[in-house]
Amino acid sequence: MNEELLRDEKGFSWSLSRERLFEFCPRAYFYHYYGSAGGFEQFSGAELLYQLKKLQPLDLWINSICTEVLRDLFYENPENFNIHKAAKRYFHQGVRSISMREWRDDPQKLNLFELYYGLKEINELIENGSMFLEKSIDSLIESGLPDYLREVPYLDRKTFTFPVCTNIGKIKIWFAPVLVWQEDGLLKFLTLNNGHSDKSKAHYSAALHKIYAFNNLRIKPERVVTLNFDLTTGETTALSDEEINVSELIEHVKDSTAEMLSLLTDHNSVFEDEFSKKTNNCAKCKFQKYCTDKE
Ligand code: SF4
Repeated sequence: MNEELLRDEKGFSWSLSRERLFEFCPRAYFYHYYGSAGGFEQFSGAELLYQLKKLQPLDLWINSICTEVLRDLFYENPENFNIHKAAKRYFHQGVRSISMREWRDDPQKLNLFELYYGLKEINELIENGSMFLEKSIDSLIESGLPDYLREVPYLDRKTFTFPVCTNIGKIKIWFAPVLVWQEDGLLKFLTLNNGHSDKSKAHYSAALHKIYAFNNLRIKPERVVTLNFDLTTGETTALSDEEINVSELIEHVKDSTAEMLSLLTDHNSVFEDEFSKKTNNCAKCKFQKYCTDKE
């Protein structure tokens, strides 16, 4: 299947989240990656789609705060860094922003899915978020992970601009580990999950890290390890090398890319009607306002 579409793969950006959205609903995928293009500019006609694209569910926002806090701790290495205080600072910035609905003037500002669609009142949402964040930060601290990371020598910490990009053939692959460092001759990647991690995603992430290390850093795959920290249980797990199949990921990325590209026309044009609606996920879809208003 993938050979037929090689011509179109050039410059195509693949990621696990892109593939997940395509599986969730091809029409939502169209709105996110094509329909909302240019919507950050006034009078573009795509402002609403862009606003909806930027919606975040509460659990992903909390996950992103934990990511930012760990990156601050690891890469900026400030003295007397207090992980609880740093997390609260990010949280209160976000709460202030959503309370003032800053997203109405600037769609880059935080906008929570549950609030936008009236699934929760703001006070209840803030309370849930605060509890979830506190529990996540407690899990991190109790696990000893931040103390362990503090001990990694500064020059062994790999600095990147996130997200990170590598290639499989002509396809660009994007991913965003939380941290990367060298230790005992190994290159270690850290990822976070909030209890919803699926097994295939964990396998594909670990394989992607090996491809990146080989392509971009000339590090052998057997010297690459991915650690996955679960914010809900406080456990860190790592897949063994036998469980990670790089060849399978490469085939998977090519087939997945071919499937997404098959909905483009011969001239690489994109038409909304080519992207079918999968209606069993609508209640969880950030584009429901636009999609159902159009009917
Ligand atoms: S509202 Fe439903 S059909 Fe429309 S884009 Fe979302 S999931 Fe797809």
